[in-house]
Amino acid sequence: MTTTPTEAGGDAALIRLTAAEMAAKLQAGEITSVQLTQAHLDRIAAVDGRLNAFLHVNTEEALAVAAEVDAIRSAGGAEAEALHPLAGVPIAIKDLIVTTGQPTTAGSKMLHGWMSPYDATVVEKIRAARLPILGKTNLDEFAMGSSTEHSAYGPTRNPWDTDRIPGGSGGGSAAAVAAFEAPLALGTDTGGSIRQPGAVTGTVGTKPTYGGVSRYGAIAMASSLDQIGPVARTVPDAAMLHELIAGHDPKDSTSLPDTHYPGGSVPNFAEAAGEHSVSGLRIGVISQLRGEGYQDGVLARFEESLQALRAAGAEIVEVDCPSFDYALGAYYLIMPSEASSNLARYDGVRYGTRVLPEDGPLTIERVMGATRAAGFGDEVKRRIMLGTYALSAGYYDAYYGSAQKIRTLIQRDFAAAFSAADVLISPTAPTVAFPLGEKLDDPLAMYLNDIATIPANLAGVPGISVPGGLSEGLPVGIQFLAPATEDARVYRAAGALEHLLQAESQPLWAQVPDLEEVSK
Ligand code: GLN
Repeated sequence: MTTTPTEAGGDAALIRLTAAEMAAKLQAGEITSVQLTQAHLDRIAAVDGRLNAFLHVNTEEALAVAAEVDAIRSAGGAEAEALHPLAGVPIAIKDLIVTTGQPTTAGSKMLHGWMSPYDATVVEKIRAARLPILGKTNLDEFAMGSSTEHSAYGPTRNPWDTDRIPGGSGGGSAAAVAAFEAPLALGTDTGGSIRQPGAVTGTVGTKPTYGGVSRYGAIAMASSLDQIGPVARTVPDAAMLHELIAGHDPKDSTSLPDTHYPGGSVPNFAEAAGEHSVSGLRIGVISQLRGEGYQDGVLARFEESLQALRAAGAEIVEVDCPSFDYALGAYYLIMPSEASSNLARYDGVRYGTRVLPEDGPLTIERVMGATRAAGFGDEVKRRIMLGTYALSAGYYDAYYGSAQKIRTLIQRDFAAAFSAADVLISPTAPTVAFPLGEKLDDPLAMYLNDIATIPANLAGVPGISVPGGLSEGLPVGIQFLAPATEDARVYRAAGALEHLLQAESQPLWAQVPDLEEVSK
């Protein structure tokens, strides 16, 4: 298809704008959504052979939606005025979130070629707001992992260094946004899968308050921890997308009533992100989430962020959360327990793959066994076994019961910390992106990547990761946490830090090295 080049260096330059800038140009009629969407599809075609961020590219539907937006806008009138501010800005969706019209695999052979008969609530909202959906992004199988290496469809590579991991499980969404294949994406965060990929790819990712975004249509991993959230290059972009997907949903029994937010409705997160002031804000440094196990370069960027915030008028206090030392242990009992129950539905009968036993009688148990043996990867099997064991009679109290008690202690630590501070701060991940393969055979080393992100999931509180500079040429993430329903605070703090750091140098996301073009 042909597109008119824009003055600013042709359509290739469009992909390097922020989502807010793209939205403004669309509204002003300076560019069309077809042009913008095509520019992203061209980028995907050019570089995704190298990155493997996309499992499915939704070319036709994306361009059709873009053309619809353009037609509405050029017709003018009430319908044009009623368009969502992000209408026409393309988005990518983690392949754990179900969509009609394109496959959903959860990164697993178990769901190879599976088509959902319905859309997730967040997808319905995105369609209603007319954001062209570029495709589905890669992930660790069933969102279990911290590197996207556990995908049954091959790893995603980090655009900052394609020999390194993009984080996980949402490495596909993070890499796509970092590499200008998409300006916005959706992720899911059960133990850090939005924030940790954000940290290691130099992007912004938010885990909303538990219940703040509908989980209806997010393939369940650990239901008491899972949340869908936004992935973007800037804090205001993430805030805008968060507002679009937030809100009560009667189809999700754990969905938060909007009246629970301060002010009684979903707050204006974008306004908080644009406040650029931390004057008088009490920021609590979590003693347990710094020091041992964290790389020097990560700690150095963290200290610089603290200094910048202090200089801008924030009050930096130290808070103690002693139970956080047990968070990882509790998570790796609760998460596999819930996952072992949620994944029992993949029985070779109802969804996706069915494998028949090679010989012997064709009983339901044997079909189930053959299907699961072939359909699930090692990490998924490992967690199902762990979870089944932890939940079994005789062990339940010792493992699952103890983990739930620790969860309560962590919630109390948060409550105490939030009486001394408005928001908490820590590095998002202990290290920068590590080389592909380095931790693949060492599950414990892999699990340690989530040491700073997991407490928020166990307590249901919101968290964001925002770029805090480079170490060894690779991005470092800074995490802010706030009390439940106070998501606006993480946007205020992260927006301010982003603004402070950008005053000194060009945005981190603009510094990603040029990618070798390898088409898919
Ligand atoms: N890396 C963590 C895990 O493997 C978190 C996963 C997630 O948030 N989906 O469990």
